[in-house]
Amino acid sequence: MGIPTETVYGLAANALDGNACARIFEAKGRPVDNPLIVHISELSQWDTLVREIPENARRLAETYWPGPLTIILPKAECIPDAVSPGLDTVSVRFPAHPVAKAVISAAGVPLAAPSANLSGRPSPTTAGHVWHDLKGRIEAVLDGGECGVGVESTVVSLACNPPRLLRPGGITLEQLEAVLGPVFVDPAVTHPLAEGAKAASPGMKYKHYAPRVPVKIVEGSGEAYIRFVNGRACEGAAALCYDGDASELRVPFVCYGQEDDPERQARELFDALRRLDELDAKIVYARCPPPEGVGLAVYNRLIRAAGFEVIHID
Ligand code: AMP
Ligand code: MG
Repeated sequence: MGIPTETVYGLAANALDGNACARIFEAKGRPVDNPLIVHISELSQWDTLVREIPENARRLAETYWPGPLTIILPKAECIPDAVSPGLDTVSVRFPAHPVAKAVISAAGVPLAAPSANLSGRPSPTTAGHVWHDLKGRIEAVLDGGECGVGVESTVVSLACNPPRLLRPGGITLEQLEAVLGPVFVDPAVTHPLAEGAKAASPGMKYKHYAPRVPVKIVEGSGEAYIRFVNGRACEGAAALCYDGDASELRVPFVCYGQEDDPERQARELFDALRRLDELDAKIVYARCPPPEGVGLAVYNRLIRAAGFEVIHID
């Protein structure tokens, strides 16, 4: 079943039942080696899912749970292979969304719940997105309105030393370091995985978040960007831009928040990526925030949607 969370909509099944988890992979068309995040609604459930909970993990959970943060630790015996294929770890999150919490509590078991999109598509931030992708493949989606954070959870591994940021999200690197001390940022957060390299987070090696129309990121000032895109109007160009750019653009565009508001950009990005396909453009030139604070999460998703293609102007 599709359920709302504060990050994105999840496709939930009993995390302790390997067959139920296998159905998630089937419905999403998810590569089978891409592990699932297990969702809990009480801290006591965490103890049963991992081998032990170190001091720093406890402090992190006390500070940011319930919330948009996933913590990876060595897994307990009860974790089915489908949840963490080939890994000796499991990722756990305690979501803050009241509907997510209520569903997990009612189920009486932890729920594995990856984003409720077709694999490779932008993650769903409304029940409509879920239904668009998975109608006919799943039985139902609970409509909890639009997701507040809008990008998937921050994923940090505490199964290594120093802790490693595998995916940026609503809880920032700075917030993690305030509790943990130095956190190593996995190179795959901002760069393509080197040929033949093993992904610390298997999900990072797959193409992600991509609309059907090709996207390229344009780096430069706002004025230079507008000149650049307007100059390509006759080539079928469109813009994925900040709210303030819109009035000067002479090409079709989708906005995703103000330039100085990365939280808003995060909330609107996936819906904006989906709407790009309605523009009937040949290519989309995108503005992208600097990789700082919540902007790092926006950057991480957008650079993947763009297949790491960046054009430097100015
Ligand atoms: P999604 O469920 O679609 O939000 O994706 C979950 C992300 O968390 C994927 O990129 C996975 O690779 C990553 N992940 C989940 N569990 C683990 C784990 N045990 N070790 C490393 N990465 C994980
Ligand atoms: Mg996903």
